[in-house]
Amino acid sequence: MEMSQPITELSGIGKKKAQLFNKIGITSLMDLVTYYPTTYEKGIDFSKIQDIKPNGRYLIQGEILLAPVSKRAGHITLTSIRLKDDTGEISLTWFNQLYLQKQLKEGETITVMGKASYKYEKLQLTSPKILTKSDLEYYEDKGIIPIYPLTKGLSQKAIRLAVASAMDVVNNTIEDHIPASMRETYELETFNDAIFQVHYPKNEIALNHARKRLIFDEFLFFQLGLMMLKEDQVKIKNQYTFTNCKWYEDTLEKLPFTLTRAQGSVLEEIIKDMNGLYNMNRLVQGDVGSGKTVVAALAIILAVENGYQSVLMAPTEVLAKQHLYSLEEIFLDLDLRVGLLVGSMTKKEKMDLYQKIEAGLIDVVIGTHAVIQEGVVFKDLALVITDEQHRFGVLQREMLAGKGHYPHVLVMSGTPIPRTLGLILYGDMDVSVIDELPPGRKSIETFSVNASYRKRVHAFIVKEIEAGRQCYIVCPMVEENEENDLIDVISYTEKLKIELPPHVRIDYLHGQMRPKIKNETMERFTRGELDILVSTTVIEVGINVPNASLMIIEDAQRFGLAQLHQLRGRVGRGGNQSYCILISDTKSALGKKRMAIMTESQDGFYIAQKDLEIRGHGDLLGLRQSGMPMFKIANIVEDIEILKQANIVAKTISEKRDILQEATYERFRNKLEDYMETNMSYIAL
Ligand code: ADP
Ligand code: MG
Repeated sequence: MEMSQPITELSGIGKKKAQLFNKIGITSLMDLVTYYPTTYEKGIDFSKIQDIKPNGRYLIQGEILLAPVSKRAGHITLTSIRLKDDTGEISLTWFNQLYLQKQLKEGETITVMGKASYKYEKLQLTSPKILTKSDLEYYEDKGIIPIYPLTKGLSQKAIRLAVASAMDVVNNTIEDHIPASMRETYELETFNDAIFQVHYPKNEIALNHARKRLIFDEFLFFQLGLMMLKEDQVKIKNQYTFTNCKWYEDTLEKLPFTLTRAQGSVLEEIIKDMNGLYNMNRLVQGDVGSGKTVVAALAIILAVENGYQSVLMAPTEVLAKQHLYSLEEIFLDLDLRVGLLVGSMTKKEKMDLYQKIEAGLIDVVIGTHAVIQEGVVFKDLALVITDEQHRFGVLQREMLAGKGHYPHVLVMSGTPIPRTLGLILYGDMDVSVIDELPPGRKSIETFSVNASYRKRVHAFIVKEIEAGRQCYIVCPMVEENEENDLIDVISYTEKLKIELPPHVRIDYLHGQMRPKIKNETMERFTRGELDILVSTTVIEVGINVPNASLMIIEDAQRFGLAQLHQLRGRVGRGGNQSYCILISDTKSALGKKRMAIMTESQDGFYIAQKDLEIRGHGDLLGLRQSGMPMFKIANIVEDIEILKQANIVAKTISEKRDILQEATYERFRNKLEDYMETNMSYIAL
């Protein structure tokens, strides 16, 4: 059978089940056999009751001596039985599993697996797992048992069965896309063996070998993909000149602040690029609040005073609007015509603007994705800038760069990526880093509290407001569900209105509001006509209201570290002492750790590194826009050594591209083409 066949071809997988599998990204046989276990359990041998010792995990079989007894203690119901084999007896106890009372019968023989411990000086098994017959087959057959990630409606067993029947069908016939010569050089086993071992490991050594092959595989194609992207962007001869710099110099002088050293040197790099032999293709990384906007503004001014158009693309309308205002302020004394292009404009408004852009009556277009629409044609576009680049995919970035006639490309990102990784991942761009914040920024005092502090937090809000400052409150979406999102922010606002003194001006913002109202609300907050803005994460990126000094994040454990860092970055933008309060009732160790990282550091690079360590591939990168992880088995932190190796191999291949034309590389070539198509156009770096 072809590996691309749908899983419904397998016996036991009907339409309904297939839909569940689709939810976890499995549609073809190939998807199924490459649905890798996330962890493994060690299978264990049967033990006799007399051999049980505290803290060990045991698999035992025995006869139930007496019907179960259940006792209540507060909220907890304890159900226990005594189990007997030919060597002794032991107690088994479960919490809140009252149904066992009916299920377990005196005299019956059961098999259980669990951990032994002392309770009241007696050895017992606590909450052991009662094994069914098919569980048992599993534990008896295999030394190491795969544990697959689940989705609602699909059990371990269902996935194991499906994988098993796919493996049966495949029957050792998956052809290897890595040529034998390469496998030999890098001591990789065949794809077929690796797949088999990863699902049914013979022992740990075999498993590690298998994993290595599969991880290498993923990294290799990822790296090659990036390199191909880069190579496809042939270096383009710079056809623009930027010799006039009067506006630029004047603006620099009139700025209400002096540029930081880092801003200055990044601008130098940009100007050098723009006057270089080839076109600029540069990424500017800078932590939140490091002042990327003014850098963009100055580059734009340079382009315009030399007679060219520029375009600045931002991920949200709110942010595009904000850029419009702050750029207009910087452009105040210049004869520079700015146009805003966003999705919420009427067709007529857009058409008018399109005409002006094409006629060269607009110098700078600021907007959202709307700027990459087909209708937008420039007269003389020399510079395209993408802000908050991580919110866009490579594809969108390329579409923007495809406007005009080979313009210079500048992308800005507020998401710091650990440097070592950046070198490998941002293979296709030059990178500048704004590694300092403007002077005088006070650190944002960050606290992590539980919900019992909410009242006190609200009192603190009032205090800040009475001192003339403003406050953000971020509520998570209850679910990825628009209606819930809506109710949540609104009802929170209503409650707050009742609770706080009447003079406090509160309003809310969320993604589903009409853009016009959204913009108006944001503007009222920016102008200081609102004291509190209750919002979902729509305010996450880029928003700049220097008078806001307080950021409250409700249910903070629900957000990723990168996101929390971005949210916190909304305050501490003026001269006032600013605060960030994370409200969270998280009980999980991981949740607590995340809160602790936030309170101990404000360095985006540090937080990014920690995020990566905790989560493997964080949401910083490596996520396709569909939300599916880019890597199924590889982990860019743990497997960094394999990544480095794959990086070298990828380099060799991409330098000697002819090798791909050799017959032994046919499958490799096909797989690469496939990979480029399905992955690379979506990868959001
Ligand atoms: P980000 O890098 O997060 O996009 P912004 O460009 O929004 O940051 O800048 C944050 C704030 O810092 C703005 O209010 C901006 O005017 C101010 N700012 C930028 N550069 C400087 C500087 N060199 N000195 C003082 N303030 C600055
Ligand atoms: Mg910004």
